[in-house]
Amino acid sequence: MRLFLRLLFRNRLAGFGAVVLGAIVLLALLTPILPLQPPNATDTANRFLRPLSAGHPLGTDHLGRDLLSRLLWGTRLSLAVGFAAALVAAVLGAAVGIVAGYAGGRTDNVTMRGIDMLMAFPYILLALAIVAALGPGLMNALIAVAVVNIPFFARNIRGVTVSLAHREFVDAARLSGLGHGRILLTEVLPNVVPVIVIAMSTTVGWMILETAGLSFLGLGSQPPRADLGSMLGEARGAMISAPHTSLVPGAMILLIVMSINLLGDGVRDALDPRLRSGALARPMAATAVDRDPPPPAQGEGLLRIDGLQTEFRMGARVGRAVGGVDLSLAPGECVGLIGESGSGKSVTALSVMGLVASPPGVITAGAVRLDGEDLLGASYGRLRALRGNRVAYIFQDPLSTLHPLYTVGEQLAEAIRVHHPVSRAEAHARAVKLLDDVRIPNAAERAGAYPHELSGGMRQRVGIAMALANDPDVIIADEPTTALDVTVQAQVLKLLHDLRRSRGLAILFITHDFGVVAQLCDRVAVMYAGRIVEEGPTEAVLNAPAHPYTARLIDCVPELGGGRRRLEAIPGLPPAVDDLPPGCAFAPRCAKAQAECRDGDIALAGRDGRRVRCLYPEPAARAAQ
Ligand code: SF4
Repeated sequence: MRLFLRLLFRNRLAGFGAVVLGAIVLLALLTPILPLQPPNATDTANRFLRPLSAGHPLGTDHLGRDLLSRLLWGTRLSLAVGFAAALVAAVLGAAVGIVAGYAGGRTDNVTMRGIDMLMAFPYILLALAIVAALGPGLMNALIAVAVVNIPFFARNIRGVTVSLAHREFVDAARLSGLGHGRILLTEVLPNVVPVIVIAMSTTVGWMILETAGLSFLGLGSQPPRADLGSMLGEARGAMISAPHTSLVPGAMILLIVMSINLLGDGVRDALDPRLRSGALARPMAATAVDRDPPPPAQGEGLLRIDGLQTEFRMGARVGRAVGGVDLSLAPGECVGLIGESGSGKSVTALSVMGLVASPPGVITAGAVRLDGEDLLGASYGRLRALRGNRVAYIFQDPLSTLHPLYTVGEQLAEAIRVHHPVSRAEAHARAVKLLDDVRIPNAAERAGAYPHELSGGMRQRVGIAMALANDPDVIIADEPTTALDVTVQAQVLKLLHDLRRSRGLAILFITHDFGVVAQLCDRVAVMYAGRIVEEGPTEAVLNAPAHPYTARLIDCVPELGGGRRRLEAIPGLPPAVDDLPPGCAFAPRCAKAQAECRDGDIALAGRDGRRVRCLYPEPAARAAQ
């Protein structure tokens, strides 16, 4: 809650809206005890008194009633009706949406077609029709406004529920024997509540406007009781001769709706995790760099990463995703970067070419050197010239990285033409050749296919072809085979292996699969909590892991024909990057942890390319050293 309020008030407009709305609500609540004149007491001798008249700070209306008193009582009524309508619409709409989205199938179809029919009517006409059927009156106006807004909530909540209905935690609840009602209440509802709150906060303003509109037309609040809409309606006849009678309720409606909308936007931003992290803010073209002078290079290598630190800054929270990584790649070498999800592998890889989204990402220390050139200090123009040209990426999910509206041939040709001044025809011919190189059958024909027309394996090959388009020196492959079945995975790995041999490519291969590492990589580096905890030649690390974490990871891998054995999961969870423990980050999960493991930094130490960040390495590795 404190975080929510802090985020909310960081948005100055939302803070302004909260203060204005708070003041209005406070005034409305205090109205019965304020020394006001009776709101409905007429005094025809004092009609249309101007503001600041004696005894009438805001003047009087056409019947001589005190405008200040009517304004406060009317505001109280309008707020109550608007919030009540929003609450009714939210509760009923959310209930309909949750049930339809969760049930799916015919229930969903029938319910949503009914909702579509309601939405097909212009909402104000529908509200007028409902009030006409029920008769004028504030309660009927409330019902009409709530009913016309139910479809809005139902549609929104149904969409969110559909995406939740088959998530793992819901399946797990079903398997554990929970009934549908319990699942809806305990698993689905808590996840849609923020969406309901966001929808309410952004619609309550317009519901107050709709209620005021109905009252303005004489269908809501009935004389002599005042709400803001009926005050406006009564004042329209004197709009020229006594404009203050219209301006006073009009200004109050403006203030209420403006403050609710500003506050609603702030609530939405504070509750939406993507907006909260800055992920939906327009990212900079290259990752922000805020570092001291770069450290000297620690050795040789085509690509050298020295002391790289990358953080995610979300307000006061700072997550250190990469906490001082040193890594090198020689020409023609394949280095595997392995670790659990969230260990910092991908952020390390994206930091190389400044592809971590800023905000919230910031590179705070270290250097990335390509042939000795510091990439973190390079201009954006220089980075663009190198991206995809000398350093290329293969991403995990080609369907989300390829553009759905262009053929794969067009996208490959564009990747070539960005870096080489060649004609369209020549770029297309090269694109076809690349597709052929990655063993896509009927390459010329396939070049005209859209990404969705290709299988997962083919799309991944297109991703590899795209990475090869400009004959790069380094390829960074971020879990390129995770989404593929084992047969296609084997083909893709063989393809990468052959290309490495034939073209002398250096590959940084990110994965969590030791089998893939064993098959493809010369060296392997194991990451945990943003740091490399062990590195060395693949065979040495796999045969005699030195770090307890590496050993436990390898123990988790089933062995074909290795007999029956229990696969022990690593107990506990990796630490949150914004709350890393002092000393060894693996200590809370390590069976060998001692008091000194939790004291101060532990260096990555060793020799002959075999290094480990541990005070008590595994005995087999000690013997191997
Ligand atoms: S330093 Fe200590 S806690 Fe960390 S992995 Fe080694 S033995 Fe375990």
